[in-house]
This record gives sequence, C-alpha cells and structure tokens, in this order.
Amino acid sequence: MKKVLTLGLALMTSVAALSSSLAQAAPKIGLLMADLRIERWQRDQNLFEKKAKELGAEVYVQSANGSEQTQIGQIENMISRGVDVLVIVPQNGEVLGNALAEAKREGIKILAYDRLIKNADIDLYVSFDNVRVGEMQSEALIKRVPKGNYFLIGGSPTDNNAKMFRQGQMNVLQPAIDRGDIVIVGDQWAKDWMPEEAMKIMENGLTANDNHIDAVVASNDGTAGGAVRALGSQGLVGKVAISGQDADLAAARRIIKGEQTMTVYKPISKLASASAELAVKLANDEPIKTEQVLNNGFTDVPAYLLDPIAVDKSNIDETVIADGYHTHDSVYQ
Ligand code: BGC
Repeated sequence: MKKVLTLGLALMTSVAALSSSLAQAAPKIGLLMADLRIERWQRDQNLFEKKAKELGAEVYVQSANGSEQTQIGQIENMISRGVDVLVIVPQNGEVLGNALAEAKREGIKILAYDRLIKNADIDLYVSFDNVRVGEMQSEALIKRVPKGNYFLIGGSPTDNNAKMFRQGQMNVLQPAIDRGDIVIVGDQWAKDWMPEEAMKIMENGLTANDNHIDAVVASNDGTAGGAVRALGSQGLVGKVAISGQDADLAAARRIIKGEQTMTVYKPISKLASASAELAVKLANDEPIKTEQVLNNGFTDVPAYLLDPIAVDKSNIDETVIADGYHTHDSVYQ
C-alpha cells in the first residue's frame, strides 16, 4: 500500500513537473487588429482571444486604429516580446514585407487573418471565399434589378479583399454588361472602408447621374449605410437596390425594413476559432494541410477559406438570428 502511495506521489510530482513545463511552453500569440471602428472586428478579436486562451495560448492584442505605420510599429513590438506566432489583420496588405521579414528571421510564424498580406513570406491565410462574397452581392442585385444603371462602391484600395470582392462582383455583372442589360454609371473605392466616404461617393454619383441609379453594389454594410444616407436625402431609400456584407446590426435592421437588399453573413466564430487552432498548431510546428493555396506575390500561401452565406429578408431568421449572431429582438426591434 505504502509502495503504491509512493509511486502515486512520484507520478503526481512528475505530472506536476510536466504540466508546469508545458505551462512554461504556452505558445505566445500576437494578434494585430487593423481597425476596431468597423463593427465586426471587436467580435473577431474577442472570439479569437477566447479560443486561443482555451487552447492554452497567451495572447497579446493591439489595434492599429486604421494606421499602417502604427501597425508596423506593433509588429516590431511583438517581435521584441518574443511571440511565436503573429496573427495579423493587415491595415495595408502591401506594406508589411520588411517588418515581416524581420519577424521571420526571429523564427516567428505568420498567419494572415481575413485579409491576405501581399509580397511577404507568410505561413497561412485564413479567411472566407472572398470572390464568392462579391458574386453573392451581384447575384442578389441582378435578381432584383436585371436591367438598369449600376453604381459600384468598392472598399479600401489597400485591402486585398476589396479587390477580390470586386472580382466576384464583376464575374456576375460582366455577362449582363456585355448583353447591354446593365450599364456601370460609376465606380469608386471608399478609403479605409469609411461610411462617410461612401456617403460622399454616393452623393456625387447621384448628382452626376441625375439620380438615375437603379442598383448600388456596396461592398460591405458600413459603406452601404453611408450610401443609404445619401439615397435618403433624395427620397430614394428602398427604391434603389443595394448590397452589403458582414450582417452588421444596422444592416440587418435595414434589410427587415426593405432599405437594403441583402448582406453577406460570414460566421466570424468559425473564422476566429479556426484561426486560433491553426495559430497554436503553427506555434507547435505541427504540419498544416489546406485544400487551397493563394499566391501573394512572394509565395504560394496555404489558404483555409470558409463559406459565406447570402442573406436577405427571407432567410435572416434561419441564418444570422438562428446562429445567435444577433437576437431576434435586436433585429426586429
Ligand atoms: C472584411 C470585411 C469588412 C471590411 C471592412 C474586409 O477586409 O473582409 O468583412 O467589412 O474589411 O472592415
């Protein structure tokens, strides 16, 4: 009995030693957010942190508040903190090459979160199928407005996603343009995805076209909100079809009221948990297999891409609300 007890104690001590050495080896992850002013990102941050901590990682978070310079400084800061993995939502996907080369020299792994980082040596890209997002936006508009004048509001020109959304939008619009059914009467990009920018763009677009606009391809809900304000000043809300993306609360409410045609719902919880799991694997040098790769100008980056969901009035209950992304009462007020 004594022997068993001693053995048990010895085992317990070594388990304790092992778990404390594991605790010491907790992977350190730096999460760098681009800009928390747009509704979805706070949710991304919270869900990522929660999942990564559950998996035993330490997480340091910083937000660049929309400044690419700040973000570069934050990468340097994370390198000096000795993180194992950097998870980055790039503010400007084109300018991080040098800072990330430095991180790589320190053996840090890099995961591009939601937005691809261009011309840099990165390990993994986790996002949604962003070309498909753009296709869904145009598909919904064309269904409602098969013929007419279309106005395009793209997102931030420094966000690679904005270009992929546009590529998807054009995949669907081009055949209708070629048939002469659809005319593109304006095409602008909203700096930093700011709703105020989209509002100005829409005001100018309406003036330039004597209000003859039938559909607005807005690339996300924030820019759709800005455009709807401009449409409102001309009494056109609900008369002009308009797309969006993100299932922001304000957009979900506009959809119910008939002020916005659709949004694209991207289940952020899936993106955040997949990214946290993959970041921990990267930290532990575990191999990661993905079905897709995307070339970022530097290398073929393994890409893990989730499916977006097109949402309008008819399916908002069984998607956004059923998922608990927003409550029924908050949407229907
Ligand atoms: C994201 C969108 C978001 C936009 C503005 C894009 O990179 O994919 O979900 O609306 O950035 O923050």
